[in-house]
Amino acid sequence: MIYIVNMRFDIITIFPDMFDSYFNESIIKHAREKRLVDICIHDLRMFARDKHKKVDDRPFGGGPGMVLKIEPLARTITAIPKKKKYMIVLCSVAGKQFDASEAVIWAKKYDQIIMIAGRYEGVDERIKKIFKMQEVSIGPYVLTGGELPIMVIIDTVARHIAGVLG
Ligand code: SAM
Repeated sequence: MIYIVNMRFDIITIFPDMFDSYFNESIIKHAREKRLVDICIHDLRMFARDKHKKVDDRPFGGGPGMVLKIEPLARTITAIPKKKKYMIVLCSVAGKQFDASEAVIWAKKYDQIIMIAGRYEGVDERIKKIFKMQEVSIGPYVLTGGELPIMVIIDTVARHIAGVLG
């Protein structure tokens, strides 16, 4: 049977290899094979223009630590081909709590979810002024990066896409 891709997930990360194992097993693997779900991973470093492929910077306006630099992020988001009903999700400790009802709504409402995995102290805050995005937390704890939250979100949303659970 030929299926039309129902949902495209785009992931923006500095650790693209982290996703290989999880998304190539079990339900998500079958959903991808059936073309119900498409997962595209974008390596943020590929969009850095300096010779060291630098993706971190000091926070604009001050603050502790480093954040993901705005230019490569903006270039990556711009380069991603957009479907009609897309949304952008920024994984953030301070974001709205992601839950089952959110997963159901997203699976029905959108045909593309672009997700940014923060690292260090997060992302350059100015990115939120350039692109409309929803900040989402997977729980009241701090992880090292947004990669695990993205895996959790994709797994949860995918289960509500018609045909994924068989
Ligand atoms: N002090 C930073 C803060 O409170 O935002 C910690 C940033 S954390 C070390 C690095 C990145 O991991 C965050 O920018 C976010 O993308 C991701 N992250 C960590 N915990 C998360 C959570 N519970 N839900 C969603 N994303 C999370």
